[in-house]
Amino acid sequence: MLLTEIISVGTELLFGEIVDSNAAFLARELGARGVTLHRKTVLGDNLPRLTDAIGTALDRADLVILGGGLGPTDDDLTREAIAAALNETPTEDPDQLAHLRGLYESRGRVMPEINRKQAWLIPSAEALPNPVGTAPGWFVRTTRGTPKLLVALPGPPREMQRMWREQVLPRLPLPGAALEHTTIHTQGIGESNLAELLGDLTRQANPSVATYARATGVDVRVAASAPDRDQAAALLHPVRQRVRELLSRWTWGEDDQTLAGAAQGALQNRTLGVIEAGSAGMLCTLLADQPGFLDAAVTQDHARLITLGLTPVTLRDQGLVSEQAARELAAGAREHLGADVGLAVVVATTGERAGQAFVAVNVPQDGRDPQQDTLHVNWPGDAAQVRERAAVSALSLLRR
Ligand code: ATP
Ligand code: MG
Repeated sequence: MLLTEIISVGTELLFGEIVDSNAAFLARELGARGVTLHRKTVLGDNLPRLTDAIGTALDRADLVILGGGLGPTDDDLTREAIAAALNETPTEDPDQLAHLRGLYESRGRVMPEINRKQAWLIPSAEALPNPVGTAPGWFVRTTRGTPKLLVALPGPPREMQRMWREQVLPRLPLPGAALEHTTIHTQGIGESNLAELLGDLTRQANPSVATYARATGVDVRVAASAPDRDQAAALLHPVRQRVRELLSRWTWGEDDQTLAGAAQGALQNRTLGVIEAGSAGMLCTLLADQPGFLDAAVTQDHARLITLGLTPVTLRDQGLVSEQAARELAAGAREHLGADVGLAVVVATTGERAGQAFVAVNVPQDGRDPQQDTLHVNWPGDAAQVRERAAVSALSLLRR
């Protein structure tokens, strides 16, 4: 087992000015490779605390991954802290220094003197090349009774992720476990009801079945780990089948599929027109890349909405945020935007009806009246959440 700890370094992380997405990335990467992650720590740019944390992490874990603090300035202290924790003295590495100077020269600039410390190495460290920035990483092999590994990577996520994949992964003694997983996306069923439906399945460890509430509905992740991919797939298969059967009524897609993509599939080559009132173009944003998405009108102006199919009587008697208004606008989206299928959303984000929304779809039928379908959304939340929920509900109508 390769017991692992992650230490994220940076005062801006500690105070919440930026979110520690690097540690989340690393945790997913480690989990997918069967590595046991025991602890994540966030520390500010403080040499004694950093040194202490590196020392204790090395006492407990086989692998310690540090992110951030490899820049050239005085508050970038990761190199100093590693050297202090290991009782080693950094020296300037001539090859690294030449490489750094070359980087600057290739852009017609002279390397600032403060960057010299990015050429430092300690005897137990190997420099990890950085293909997208100046700061090289460190790969440290040391012992504390047992062999220990320590990796230091730069903070900018693009640099960290590339170096992780290209430089760190090939150097790690990975446990050789494989993880196979599928995420099933559902809508229209709450997380607790879903958990009841899954019953004992959610209580087993391998394969594991876990639920996650998302803006697009509840996701169910089924994962199995085994010594190799074939065994993991074989272990996953029957449980995934069982979950698919149980959830088929509510499922709209799997893995990388998007709700907009699923809605596009349901359109079956027909074009879609959209009218949005109060949702600030949220539905258009979700649909933007779908080929069937023909045209849209985003407006809250009553006079304009009347030209798009809303009747003055409905507006007067029931208001804009009403089921009837949504129906009329869905029909209007077909008629006035020239689309095959019409979709409308009316949302209240302020006032007495805040949090209320109606969505409607209007689909032509051969020789019959068009098929109309509506949904009422009533969910507390801030304006952005209310808009998102309304837009997502509108997409779910298309799939019905
Ligand atoms: P630099 O040479 O850019 O200073 P560095 O290794 O010193 O690199 P930091 O100074 O710690 O890294 O962070 C640089 C930037 O990288 C931060 O301002 C932030 O935008 C991003 N960053 C750092 N750590 C994280 C993290 N854990 N999660 C997400 N972003 C991060
Ligand atoms: Mg920095």
